[in-house]
Amino acid sequence: MSIEEPGEDEALLKLEDTPSCPHCGGPTLLLARYPQAWKSARGEDVSGIKEAVLCAACDHVDAAAAELIALFNLDEQVSPEMETFGGLAAAWVESVRQRTVDETLLQEQHELWRCGELDGQGCPPRLWQESVDALALANEQE
Ligand SMILES: [Zn+2]
Repeated sequence: MSIEEPGEDEALLKLEDTPSCPHCGGPTLLLARYPQAWKSARGEDVSGIKEAVLCAACDHVDAAAAELIALFNLDEQVSPEMETFGGLAAAWVESVRQRTVDETLLQEQHELWRCGELDGQGCPPRLWQESVDALALANEQE
């Protein structure tokens, strides 16, 4: 790991030697490392450093990612100094950030369901998966 810690609210972008895509195992275009703070389902403040990769095969469903992927397709010499790249990358990281918060929250709520804390009934995993799918759909439509 040769990546430096990102600043207060800044994403660190890496274009070389990016890891494989966690979804399809293919090569990725970009790695973003960013600080993330969110409220847990129990209302506690949680923060940490998150990483996200941009995969041309998996991420084109996200509007912000699609624009960034299009830039890579247009210009093979994409570099962090490019103004267009900076703007699109920032938008992409922001969209990933939002999505991560939602997923983290959903996952925690799922845990609460399993413990029977949320509705007292327990909740089948299938229902949780459906809400994740609904969320993915909602994100797509934005
Ligand atoms: Zn992928």
